[in-house]
Amino acid sequence: MKYALNWDLDSLFAGGINSTQLKTKLTETKTAIASLGDLLDRWDAASDAPQYQQFVKLITQLQEISASIGQAGLFIMAVGSADSANPDVAPMEAELRGLANQAENVSGKLKKVLVQVPDANFTAMLATPDLKPIAFNLKEMRDDGKELLDDKTEALISRLNLDGKAAWSSHYDSLVSTVNVPFHDADGNPTTLSAGQADNNLLGNADPDYRAALLPAWEQAWTDKEQLFADTLNHLAGFRLTEYAAHGTTDFLREPLKDNRMSAATLNTMWQVVDDNKQFLLDYLDRKAALLGKKHAGWQDVEAPLNLPGSAEHHFTFDEAAAFIIKHYGEFSPKMAALAQRAFENNWIEAEDRAGKAPGGWMESAPETHESRIFMTFTGSPNDVATLAHELGHAFHSSVIDDLPQLRQDYAMNVAETASTFGELIVADANVKAAKTDAEKIALLNAKMDNPVAMFLNIRARYLFETRFYQLRQQKLVTPAELNELMLNAQKEAFGHDLSTYSPHLWASKLHFYIDEPAFYNFPYVFGYLFSLGIYAKAQQEGNFEDHYIALLRDTANMTSEELAQKHLGVDLTQPDFWQAGVKLIKRDVAEFMRLTDPLVK
Ligand SMILES: [Zn+2]
Repeated sequence: MKYALNWDLDSLFAGGINSTQLKTKLTETKTAIASLGDLLDRWDAASDAPQYQQFVKLITQLQEISASIGQAGLFIMAVGSADSANPDVAPMEAELRGLANQAENVSGKLKKVLVQVPDANFTAMLATPDLKPIAFNLKEMRDDGKELLDDKTEALISRLNLDGKAAWSSHYDSLVSTVNVPFHDADGNPTTLSAGQADNNLLGNADPDYRAALLPAWEQAWTDKEQLFADTLNHLAGFRLTEYAAHGTTDFLREPLKDNRMSAATLNTMWQVVDDNKQFLLDYLDRKAALLGKKHAGWQDVEAPLNLPGSAEHHFTFDEAAAFIIKHYGEFSPKMAALAQRAFENNWIEAEDRAGKAPGGWMESAPETHESRIFMTFTGSPNDVATLAHELGHAFHSSVIDDLPQLRQDYAMNVAETASTFGELIVADANVKAAKTDAEKIALLNAKMDNPVAMFLNIRARYLFETRFYQLRQQKLVTPAELNELMLNAQKEAFGHDLSTYSPHLWASKLHFYIDEPAFYNFPYVFGYLFSLGIYAKAQQEGNFEDHYIALLRDTANMTSEELAQKHLGVDLTQPDFWQAGVKLIKRDVAEFMRLTDPLVK
């Protein structure tokens, strides 16, 4: 084997979770935070003018602190993901959270210090050579600062948060670990599934009857504990709303939009395009239902695989997957291919299929060493190859900005999913092209539809639910019955009343509603996906695309989303045209799926 299935973490911090190097790093970071706080207390803009060298030191130190926390955070998360039963991880996580909290306080202090600088001086500061590259970020920080309360109150809120919003979020994980689904295995023998196992089978089991029987058992398991989940969701949201109100706003979308550096007008246009264009995806689901021998698809069929006779999929070894990704990345961008090769050669990837690993996949960058790490479980399916290409897309994004100031690397979630989706699209399309039979091609196109169906229908439903829930929560505690009804209606609306079954307890089963930071963990995905499709459409037309693409990625934490699209793509995100161009690509896939499956349902 050419490439290892396991990553190298020792080169980040030697010696595992109890690494002395790691402990030293945390201690040093703590000291740096305290010293920055002191320096901030003494900083005086007037006497620092006109060079502002003292301020340059302060902002450099803040960025170094953030890089240290990122470096340590990646390592701790990596150990926890690769060895999910390791009891030493949680205490380290808590220690890091505490540090991040202190760093946040000192960053808040710096923001408020900026507010004190008169406008004319602030403009002069931003024009100095050292500060010019981070002018956008400093302006953003100063604007944030204007909304902050006094230091003591902010510090109190952030300490309360550890036992409030953040605590409810981690309480959710504890609750989920107690959810069991009594069911039976494929041979009919009684068994008990964990929430994670049941979820995987509900959405991914190849047998439609097994999935259909599992859905009521799944819903019942969440019904049994719905009051506990409702309490958790209500209090997490209640804490958040109180926090917003203390900062003078009742608009619960204001903060999430600001986090994603996008306007409400852009969000509304994006959703409008989604709503206006979902019919072809509903037609796809109807066709899928017909192939499964049904009139309408159920909730449990939406993401299910389609294993038609002769569709046995190509199996990749890890080395083959690496070669496939490097080759197809290279057709778009030699630099993307080179980065992927670097990741494989330097053991950045944990891919082994074994017990004791956390589910899911992620990429995190190591800001101090200019590397990344990727976590996933590789079983050899074409889907796994696409997932790997997704995470490598994230890593490519990190790699083209790692020479910029730390603040300029702090891109938001909506653009974070751009490079990853782009990488995934390249490889998913290559998979379809490489298919040897129509049946295999159908199976791959079906798998490729998971993304648009999730974005246009499932996440649309989650967004509708979440906005309505927050509206209601502003007035009262929301009961489990009301939560079920809100969710059921949102699903029916988003799926055009086209499904035969729904999952009203998705508000309890979906982790994303319980993430404390950031709020509204849904619309940025749709943005990233459609934004990336728009870029992909452009890439297929243009010759010197690579430089263009890298220039766009380098500006992802340097302007608003609207400015980014205008500057690098020449489009207006508040207008439907750009979004529409991405939709066209999905329609092409669906049309191909319809053409190939037409003879099978006649
Ligand atoms: Zn991603």
